[in-house]
Amino acid sequence: MTDYDVIVLGGGPGGYAAALYGASAGLKMALVEEKKVGGTCLHRGCIPAKALLQAAEVYRTIGHADSFGFRLPEGATAVTDWPAVNARKSGIVNQLHGGLSGLLRRRKVTIIEGHGRLTADGAVALIGRAKDIISRGGNKIAPLEIDNLLTEHPDIAAALCAGVADERLGEVIHAVIVTRAGARLDAKTLRDWLLARTERFKVPDVFHFRDALPAGASGKADRRAVAQLAAQPGNRR
Ligand SMILES: Cc1cc2nc3c(=O)[nH]c(=O)nc-3n(C[C@H](O)[C@H](O)[C@H](O)COP(=O)(O)OP(=O)(O)OC[C@H]3O[C@@H](n4cnc5c(N)ncnc54)[C@H](O)[C@@H]3O)c2cc1C
Repeated sequence: MTDYDVIVLGGGPGGYAAALYGASAGLKMALVEEKKVGGTCLHRGCIPAKALLQAAEVYRTIGHADSFGFRLPEGATAVTDWPAVNARKSGIVNQLHGGLSGLLRRRKVTIIEGHGRLTADGAVALIGRAKDIISRGGNKIAPLEIDNLLTEHPDIAAALCAGVADERLGEVIHAVIVTRAGARLDAKTLRDWLLARTERFKVPDVFHFRDALPAGASGKADRRAVAQLAAQPGNRR
């Protein structure tokens, strides 16, 4: 990754505020975000919650409008239009997201899409670009992070993960595993080993044990080839 004075991992309120402070102090700042700048607060927490609470407040106020001096027709009640309530909420979130992204750009903060990780030598490695990110049931997963974890297993020589379309979850994770010579490893043992080391949603849904990683047209191991292998009859979830 290019040199920056400070690289902030995560573009939530903590991260974007730090990036803006750094930029205003004249530092060359980068902000690594694997989903969307704004974080939990803007996309799933404070902002959407407050938009929905305000809608609830309006509904309640209509219920006793007469106490404010407004008379509704006899027997009239407010009917909730949920798609409209949600559209208003999403509109607010999108507007603030656009405003925040613009502000960061104007302050010359470089926004880098992907999952960042501190390396042993104190550098920051980007281990997954947005286009590679697997979206499993709303959770974003950098496949390289899972590949790296899998290859820490003493019986695994190589591993490659990919997202495969799934009706229920959007995508599920398939992993091709190449075990070391003589090793005996099964999916259940491997799943339990992973569950002890990472979040449940990052554990692959399907393991394909093979003699070699699937290669693409160039002859190199290729994620798209994992997805193609997974799509073959009998290999799906
Ligand atoms: C329903 C709800 C309502 C809330 N309401 C309020 C409220 O009214 N007032 C209030 O003060 N607080 C509220 N909160 C809490 C508030 O959302 C959090 O305190 C705040 O978002 C924390 O900010 P953060 O930057 O620490 O983390 P987050 O907002 O979670 O942001 C972290 C960001 O980092 C990214 N990230 C993480 N790891 C990496 C990585 N390795 N590489 C790249 N990107 C990464 C994530 O994708 C995420 O975007 C609410 C929370 C919820 C869930």
